[in-house]
Amino acid sequence: MKPNKGAAVVDTRIVENPAQKSIALVAHDHKKNDLLKWCQEHLERLKPHRFYATGTTGSLIEQQTGLPIHKLISGPLGGDQQIGALITEHKIDVLIFFWDPLAAQPHDPDVKALLRLAAVWNIPVACNQSTADMVITSPLLGTPYLRHEPDYEAYLAKRTLT
Ligand code: PGA
Repeated sequence: MKPNKGAAVVDTRIVENPAQKSIALVAHDHKKNDLLKWCQEHLERLKPHRFYATGTTGSLIEQQTGLPIHKLISGPLGGDQQIGALITEHKIDVLIFFWDPLAAQPHDPDVKALLRLAAVWNIPVACNQSTADMVITSPLLGTPYLRHEPDYEAYLAKRTLT
């Protein structure tokens, strides 16, 4: 199919995500208890992996589960954007994001930007508990995974300034 005029066409390449995944965890305030319970329920499956989280989410999970977590700044102060930046640096393999669809967030643009970057880089994203259940029980979580992502070298080579 011919792409729409003006639509970006980006070549992709295949990268191998390791068996030990780097998982980013984020929960909005009304969803923090749900994410905590979910982490406790799946603790044994989570243990082999590495974790990043926004500030408050990370502190709570670390205190209540003992999982070591690389804590970023709090979401409303820029933590979601930090996770987005880590995705572009290939430092995040999976995003578990319990966002609250029923409450307005002051950092809504950051949330949208984070989800956009996860889509751009083809990172698996769970935005609710059911999807998180499917991700955590996937055999691909604990084995190397060949993921398609934008080929930045090819992208740069094709770009022309007009
Ligand atoms: P927090 O941020 O973990 O610091 O509360 C989460 C968010 O609201 O993005």
